[in-house]
Amino acid sequence: MEPSSSNNGFIQQQPVIKNQLYDDVSFQRVAKLFLPSAILDKITPDVVQLGQEVLSQQVFDWVTDAEHNQPYLRGNGRDSFGKPKSELVVGEGWRKLQDYGFEKGVVALNYDTDHGPYTRLVQFLRCHLWEASCANTLCPAAMQDGAARLLQRHLSSSASKTLSPVERNVFQNAYDHLTSRDPAKTWTSGQWMTERTGGSDVSQTETVATYDPFPSSESVPLASQSESIPLGPWSISGFKWFSSATDSNMTILLAKTHPSKGVSAFFAPMRRHNPALVSHTGESGNGTELNGITIQRLKHKFGTQSLPTAELELKGMRGWLIGEEGKGIQEISTILNITRVHTTVSSMGYLGRSLGIARSFALVRPVGMGKGKRIALSSHPLHMRTLANMTTDYHGMMLLTFYTIYTLGLDERSLPSNSAATKVPTPPEELVQPLLRVLSSLHKSYVCETTVPLVYGCMEALGGVGYMQNVESEHLNISRLFRDCCVGAIWEGTTDVLASDTLRALKHPRSGEQSVRALDWLIQSSKHATLIKEWQGLKNRIETGRQEELLPEARGLVFRIAEVVISVLYLVDVNSNPGAEIEAMCASFMEKKGFNVDETMRKRLREGGLKLDQAIVYGAGKEITQGAKL
Ligand SMILES: Cc1cc2nc3c(=O)[nH]c(=O)nc-3n(C[C@H](O)[C@H](O)[C@H](O)COP(=O)(O)OP(=O)(O)OC[C@H]3O[C@@H](n4cnc5c(N)ncnc54)[C@H](O)[C@@H]3O)c2cc1C
Repeated sequence: MEPSSSNNGFIQQQPVIKNQLYDDVSFQRVAKLFLPSAILDKITPDVVQLGQEVLSQQVFDWVTDAEHNQPYLRGNGRDSFGKPKSELVVGEGWRKLQDYGFEKGVVALNYDTDHGPYTRLVQFLRCHLWEASCANTLCPAAMQDGAARLLQRHLSSSASKTLSPVERNVFQNAYDHLTSRDPAKTWTSGQWMTERTGGSDVSQTETVATYDPFPSSESVPLASQSESIPLGPWSISGFKWFSSATDSNMTILLAKTHPSKGVSAFFAPMRRHNPALVSHTGESGNGTELNGITIQRLKHKFGTQSLPTAELELKGMRGWLIGEEGKGIQEISTILNITRVHTTVSSMGYLGRSLGIARSFALVRPVGMGKGKRIALSSHPLHMRTLANMTTDYHGMMLLTFYTIYTLGLDERSLPSNSAATKVPTPPEELVQPLLRVLSSLHKSYVCETTVPLVYGCMEALGGVGYMQNVESEHLNISRLFRDCCVGAIWEGTTDVLASDTLRALKHPRSGEQSVRALDWLIQSSKHATLIKEWQGLKNRIETGRQEELLPEARGLVFRIAEVVISVLYLVDVNSNPGAEIEAMCASFMEKKGFNVDETMRKRLREGGLKLDQAIVYGAGKEITQGAKL
């Protein structure tokens, strides 16, 4: 017997993290199910490369740097002589990760590439791979995407309000920056809604915008001298309690213009040109400063620590009104439809990566089976059942998330008549918007909450090492993913707020009926008696109950609808590409939720055992080559 020492004795073999495109069966199934094969073939080489690059040591080094060198305010917001100076400093890792995302077109793809209504699916499949390696840089990117979509709508000929030539120039300039792939040119955007009065209810906004145009066109100061972009005619003052993209170049914010009017939406650049500024070397004429913004302090957070989230005081910030006065909620909802999907995809991205880490760890980790027998975790029946159950939930949420994205894509670009059909149910044109209205809050409410304990489960699957920060092996850092994942259920609307919003959509006096019809159409398409019966009960409850009466049940109702919709999509997946493991996953999900399943599927589940669980976790026909020295 030799005693162990710090370098001798058992040392755990490192797990190998594999390209998710090959390793994540759910990712592959979703891509195949939703995308016509011609598009899938076209994008595959690029997705393979992205899947590889997001796991590179370089990317993980940037992540470590972004987490370690957290953003700070130089001099706590003052210069050496005590003058206020809101200078935000972000680390090199953060900047490099942002640049990488810009170059990869994480946002731009939706605006410079045309895969018809499948463009959003392609964009978000790529984002899904990038989420867990991007150290939250996709958060400002989400708001960049939302802002680009909002400005695109206003620049398009169908916009309700005609833009003046100056407004058009300002919006077009911002849009071009937001949709660029050149890191030197690309802008991200802030989205300032939350105030101390509450993020869930922006009607209490205390920020005030006053129409105060400059006296003459010659006297209009510039936001950017090089691009000759003028500052806006509105002067905005107030206090914003949360701003996550504090290093962004512009923002979309809410403010009140009149006590009797609802909130309005504004565009504002973060900086403005100030010719009077003199640099420390005595130069003048080229200086820029924040556009009437003071960064009060940076937030200290449980997670998303690389992200510069701040409190901001606005005094005379100059901006441009977007749309009509008092219609800010309508405007911001365009952004929220996008940022909510980004938030859900980030939760799915964290879970997808966490499961990948848990899978690879199980291949190399030996554990005891009693009487001195040792096996790899990947051959342990209980561990495999646990991972199989988590994989089943993950796949159900992937289906729900990507179905919502498919609907979003249909809303943005309609399906050409000669289009190669996808295998998923495509709503008739008149039901696209009502369906999207329900799914966009429903999927965010359900997925962002449900992923949190699952990511925790992956952390637990690594035992004590899972609980460590693992900065020395950043690719294994599930605890960072867990902390970051938790915010998904809070920002862009909490679980309850979005559950009540879904209810509001279904009870809306004008559009509610169509939204109910859209769900009806989707669920009826399954022709599955138990699911239809369950839905009829829910529908009846929604149609007959008064909104106030249904409110306390909103989370339960919405989660139940989500479970029915997931089951419908599971059945679509089974039918389009059958196999023992997908049938067992479908049966397992539906049985867990109390829905009857087909006898054959139930049998598969009962008789499956370890081999089936391994196939669910690692994929059918995959040889489980255990690296463990047992
Ligand atoms: C890290 C981080 C970054 C953020 N970045 C931004 C940002 O960039 N821009 C931005 O605008 N905001 C941002 N937020 C704010 C975020 O969107 C809000 O925190 C969130 O919307 C909740 O608002 P609140 O904090 O005011 O909580 P409240 O609205 O006060 O909610 C408190 C509790 O009350 C419940 N509740 C409130 N109203 C209702 C209701 N009507 N029905 C049922 N339950 C209700 C909520 O579910 C919650 O549990 C960020 C938050 C965090 C944590």
